[in-house]
Amino acid sequence: MENKYVVGIDIGGQGSTIGIVDKRGEVILCRGGQGFLAPWDHREQQVYVDALCKALEEMFADEKIGGKENIAGIGIGAPSSSYLTGKIEKAPNLPPEWDNFEITKMVSKKINLDNVFLDNDANAAMLGEWAYGGAKDTNHCIMITLGTGLGSGIVAEGRLIRGKHGLGGELGHTRAYHCGDRICGCGRIDCLERYASATGMAFTAVQFVKQKQTGILYEKYKERIAEIRAELLDKNIKLNSEKDEEEIKNLKAQITELERKYELPISSKDVCDAAEKNDPLALEIFAFTGKILGESLANFVAFSDPNKIFLFGGLAKSGKYILEPTRKAMEVNLLKNYKGYDDEGNKKVDVYLSELNNNADAAILGASALVWEKIKSGN
Ligand SMILES: [Zn+2]
Repeated sequence: MENKYVVGIDIGGQGSTIGIVDKRGEVILCRGGQGFLAPWDHREQQVYVDALCKALEEMFADEKIGGKENIAGIGIGAPSSSYLTGKIEKAPNLPPEWDNFEITKMVSKKINLDNVFLDNDANAAMLGEWAYGGAKDTNHCIMITLGTGLGSGIVAEGRLIRGKHGLGGELGHTRAYHCGDRICGCGRIDCLERYASATGMAFTAVQFVKQKQTGILYEKYKERIAEIRAELLDKNIKLNSEKDEEEIKNLKAQITELERKYELPISSKDVCDAAEKNDPLALEIFAFTGKILGESLANFVAFSDPNKIFLFGGLAKSGKYILEPTRKAMEVNLLKNYKGYDDEGNKKVDVYLSELNNNADAAILGASALVWEKIKSGN
């Protein structure tokens, strides 16, 4: 295939972003962001597809692109999506009308282009790193995305592993730390993501802060709790005197959000900020989180024998604070065969920060890499 460009589309609850990307990962043209083609404003499937394809046609016609004939295909990254079926299914942050949404088929038909693919954001992140980032030189690697949850994408022997049901690489839901006290969204206890995602680390922070009751994070915790309490009181007073039904619904939603914040008033970003000021408790929280993540990574190495593991997403943005304890714990727990250096003097396996971590276009690059993957594998 000689086409010059691929399209990457990132669909989130708040909006969509479309990028047209060249082979080197340069974004030639980009449209979108928060509020652009927002799923909640386009609740009917066909309405969204029509609006999306209209935007695509306009972009293809731009003189920098030179028409649809220069486009090799379209990759779409969306939550709760299946590569195998090409459908978005039961995504918690998308409109209920979007359940069982055959988006690949519908877009392909509307825009009259064959190569339209869909996958989840962790697989897209892995493919993005493989096409344009630090994984360019390897065919054996793992991507770990540390956001609200913990996602993963695995490349082994030059293929992204999707498995029999398209569910390959749910490493966030392997059991990690056997305390038995953190219930996961999946209904089981002590999944890795309850400890090592950005949210997982925030839980650890609240737990540690309550025990130690000292330091920068404790002050922040007290401050936030007082703010949230005051706001909750205020909203409840308003709710009691409100008659308008729409306004009551609004207030109730705000109260639910405040109650959620009350449970988790500290974020992983707060822990990172405190670590930068050398706060001992913040460093302890990172050490605990990195130890659990590193021990799990040592187990994952035994499955597919990668030489590189990448960390991406919110928590990975804390850089050395998460990387160093994770690296150390993985090294200690690795089976002897995976330790040390290969014949060329490279570490047999190591953990790295994603090279796309601070790239604002990471999500569209990842989605666009779905098309290059198909071209590469010759399917
Ligand atoms: Zn789980």
